[in-house]
Amino acid sequence: MMHRSEFPLLKNKPELHYLDNASTTQKPQVVLDALNHFYCYENANTYRGIYELGEVATERYEEARSIVAQFINAQHASEIIFTRGATEGINAVADAWARRHLKSGDEIVITALEHHANYLPWQRLAHEQGLVLRVIPINADGTLDMAAAATLITARTKLVAYTWISNAIGTHVPVYTLVQYAQSVGARILIDAAQAVAHVPINVQSLQPDFLVFSGHKIGGPTGIGVLYIGHALHDQLEPYQVGGGMVLRVAEPPQWLKAPHKFEAGTPPIAQAVGLGTAVTFFKNNIDYAMLKKHEAALCAQFIKHLQQYPWIRILGPVEQLQQQGHLVSFVVDGIHAHDVAAYLGKHNICVRAGHHCAQPLANALGYDASVRVSFYMYNTRADVDACCNAIDTLLASF
Ligand code: PMP
Repeated sequence: MMHRSEFPLLKNKPELHYLDNASTTQKPQVVLDALNHFYCYENANTYRGIYELGEVATERYEEARSIVAQFINAQHASEIIFTRGATEGINAVADAWARRHLKSGDEIVITALEHHANYLPWQRLAHEQGLVLRVIPINADGTLDMAAAATLITARTKLVAYTWISNAIGTHVPVYTLVQYAQSVGARILIDAAQAVAHVPINVQSLQPDFLVFSGHKIGGPTGIGVLYIGHALHDQLEPYQVGGGMVLRVAEPPQWLKAPHKFEAGTPPIAQAVGLGTAVTFFKNNIDYAMLKKHEAALCAQFIKHLQQYPWIRILGPVEQLQQQGHLVSFVVDGIHAHDVAAYLGKHNICVRAGHHCAQPLANALGYDASVRVSFYMYNTRADVDACCNAIDTLLASF
């Protein structure tokens, strides 16, 4: 696994135990170097300058698109749309496709595990357009109720939009089975791969979603860039999400749009961020073996869970056995101590963890907690990070 010395922030702060990777990840040196190099030697706007520098910037931007396309095994680079992040990608699909193609009475199916980014756009659209929003419930252990999924996805379903891995409790959903259910009724599929992207291999040609989104900052890339994959079969059916510069061929009545991906990327794109993301993905591919990464992160989850299980007043949320085998995060509540107090105490000991509902209030309601503590791992975390966190929890609990 990658050593923390490759990540400047972790190198500069040797005392820090960064365990908030489900929120955002630290950046490897190569990504910072790529951003710096781009701004120092290659910066210009894309597609506009009829001069060498402008051509170089355009080439770098398009190279990044190809790197991302290969990374998720997209058939065409034009299926990769750069956005600001997963949130923008989902809102774009809600606006550019769902709002224009769904009509009153049509159904959208999501799951009880969704991040607000994959809940609120559908809730709002359902309200505005008279659509029906159906939510696949979870079992008590935080796994998805697949029997309910089978009955909720019907001929009335026009879209099934779901997260691959829960950011709040770590559940992996049976991503391929849901694709089959959706395809069997002719519904479109949107996969929120925000948590999945840095932990499991994504192959859109075998998975066959219509849409898939993720954010660059969760895989070592810069903030301000994300990916919206749109399968090419849909390109002509989709209206642009935003209109403006760089996306129109002829301004007439009606206007004639450029082809995808440009049709979906109005305005100056996040050029340097794309270069940074391309570098982050290349770094990841060159250094990570998925089986080893899974083993590494799951071992850290198992070590942590084993420690927490000594305390009968700690409740681990989510499917414990699954987390021990393939998890990258552990979420828990301590009876009698608010999650924010636990996280604040750990913070004082240089242990960065998150507390709250993790932008998944419906899930917190379903499982009956208002805030949990979430500890999330990445390639650079070690058993020593887990030990530090366990020791601090021991001291905190001993003082109660
Ligand atoms: N979906 C999931 C599952 C997430 O974990 C996140 C980020 N926490 C998002 C969507 C939203 O990502 P972003 O804030 O980068 O747009």
